[in-house]
Amino acid sequence: MSEPSVFTRILKGEIPSEIIAETENAFAIRDIAPKAPVHLLVIPKSEQYRNVVELAAGDPELLAELVALANSVAAAHSDGDFRLIFNTGPGAGQTVFHVHAHVLAGVLDESSLGG
Ligand code: AMP
Repeated sequence: MSEPSVFTRILKGEIPSEIIAETENAFAIRDIAPKAPVHLLVIPKSEQYRNVVELAAGDPELLAELVALANSVAAAHSDGDFRLIFNTGPGAGQTVFHVHAHVLAGVLDESSLGG
């Protein structure tokens, strides 16, 4: 067994972070290193899927639940418009292999495209 991901440890309360919203199978936190005025992460509670491709193939309903949670937190924390980014693979900047979406909102510029 590999070590639990940083997001699983946050969910268990082992690493401090405020859970700003949650659904049955997903939760949202603020990114610790924001790249936009509003930079949130929406994350499945299970770390079964490493990236969005695996998630879409294995549990499309959970992917839809993540998108709905992203919409809800973007409305609650900004004006409702947002960018949704899934970094997929180390070459694309993925560092945590527990699938998560970056929700970027506020005044955005091109430098925030990388999540
Ligand atoms: P990625 O590079 O797409 O895998 O995204 C991982 C994200 O997790 C990065 O934007 C990090 O800033 C963020 N992150 C890492 N550790 C924490 C933490 N303890 N609390 C909140 N966000 C974190």
